[in-house]
Amino acid sequence: MQGAPDPDDLPAVPGAYVLIIETEIPIFVTIGSLPATTLPPGRYAYAGSARGPGGIRARVRRHLRKDKKPHWHIDRVTAVAEIIDVQTFLGGDECRLVAELMAKPGAHHPITGFGSSDCRNCASHFIALG
Ligand SMILES: [Zn+2]
Repeated sequence: MQGAPDPDDLPAVPGAYVLIIETEIPIFVTIGSLPATTLPPGRYAYAGSARGPGGIRARVRRHLRKDKKPHWHIDRVTAVAEIIDVQTFLGGDECRLVAELMAKPGAHHPITGFGSSDCRNCASHFIALG
């Protein structure tokens, strides 16, 4: 899938997903106790999971909306940057997706703790793609 993803194309079942996010401008991010960081222009990935009603489709539909009250860390980024692709993994585990993304050359965690407040395994669930 390329261009603006259509959530209607996504499965309305629980699972994990990866958002591929692109920004052409620097994004200044301040979140609670995390260190303030400027994300340089480039491509990023966010791994999440949706277990609630509507599954992946409902969650990604929310990610794609610009006019939302920030709730998750990733909302600070998706309010400004563009989601250019969504990959879904039925029954998948977002921490395993993080590990796979981090195996790519140049991939790194720009903000430790970002998107992984509930996770004890990953440095973050947000990855700068090299
Ligand atoms: Zn994790």
